[in-house]
Amino acid sequence: MDTRTAEGASLLVTRIGTLAVVPPGPVPGQHMRDVPLVPDAAVLIRDGRIAWFGPAREAPLDEGTVMLSAHGGCVIPGLIDAHTHIPFVGDRSGEFVRRLAGESYLSIMESGGGIRSTCRAVRSASLDELVAANLPRLHRMLEYGVTRVECKSGYGLSPEHELKQLEAIRELDRQQPIDLEPTFLGAHALPDEFDGRPDEFLETIASPALLHEVSRRGLAFFCDVFCDRGAFTVEQARRVLERASAAGLRPKLHADELAQIGASSLAGELRAVSADHLECIDDAGIAALKAAGAVAVVLPGTSFYLGIPHCDARRLIDADVPVAVATDYNPGSCMIESLPWVMNIACCQLRMLPTEVLVACTANAAAALDVHRRTGAVEIGYDADLTVLDVPSLDAWFYTPGRPRVRAVIKAGHVVYRRPEYAL
Ligand SMILES: [Zn+2]
Repeated sequence: MDTRTAEGASLLVTRIGTLAVVPPGPVPGQHMRDVPLVPDAAVLIRDGRIAWFGPAREAPLDEGTVMLSAHGGCVIPGLIDAHTHIPFVGDRSGEFVRRLAGESYLSIMESGGGIRSTCRAVRSASLDELVAANLPRLHRMLEYGVTRVECKSGYGLSPEHELKQLEAIRELDRQQPIDLEPTFLGAHALPDEFDGRPDEFLETIASPALLHEVSRRGLAFFCDVFCDRGAFTVEQARRVLERASAAGLRPKLHADELAQIGASSLAGELRAVSADHLECIDDAGIAALKAAGAVAVVLPGTSFYLGIPHCDARRLIDADVPVAVATDYNPGSCMIESLPWVMNIACCQLRMLPTEVLVACTANAAAALDVHRRTGAVEIGYDADLTVLDVPSLDAWFYTPGRPRVRAVIKAGHVVYRRPEYAL
């Protein structure tokens, strides 16, 4: 399946029906719809990077160039899922049905469900078990055209088990083609043993020593906090993220999901790389994100899955904030691993245009992970991470939700996935 070009050889992707020339992120909201679409295009890849792109008839041909036909399909940058809770274990399908039957999240949590249930499962899993349970998830995400995924800890909730989760992310990164971007989310929820003692818990899970160890060992690039009603307060989140910044971890925030308590304003104040969720964001929060240049990561799969109101993404876009869309893939509030499906929800429910959604899941997702200077766009010198679809245009792709449309995935110039019936 893995088609590798010889060292130094070029790869020319030809017969592209439409090439979506996504510009480098962050793309401000009002420009997200401006994606040049080049018909009958080609992309030349050299040394794992985009060396040229344009109309196929003008394509340069190096000696020994390997040709790959897109068979008239649309080619986009590899998709980037900028917010997931991989790696996790455990089954919460029972909770899903209880919620459908009308039980509240709070009552499910009080009976031992919710994040604490996943915490028990993660704590009793070995590092190898965590890796084995999550590898197939990443293999499937590759088949959806995804080439980069953010992964969070946050189910260990003790230094030992948080480190185990981060080590599992590192191992998963080694074992499959998708690049993983690790985030430390120790302040995700209170574990049973710290019930009613959040500040004591934070002294354990966000001690300067632990944050420095995480940063020094390269186990995470970002630190995230669940700052919301029923989770951690703005003051607690500020304390954790200031320490994390001092240790070299960039701040992120789960903000404004359940209530408006000032989390997005805090994200602006701390110059967070992103603020995620934002279902209840207000004008002050929007202004703060815009001033700080933070990416707004919208998670419509969660609202869909929980049946709660969506984030008003159009308001963020109109305010010119760079918006990303991600799955929030997790075992409780969004067991949806398909980014294309969530992209369709963004289109049909948030009224985002196909080009806006594409930018949200490529250039702006890259900006939410601080990798936008080298990936997430069709740009000379950028990583040759490309997804080949079996439809000729973006519009045709979004028009038919739920159908697998990915023909092949190219990662750093190598074909790392192709649908079995697709001859190259
Ligand atoms: Zn989340």
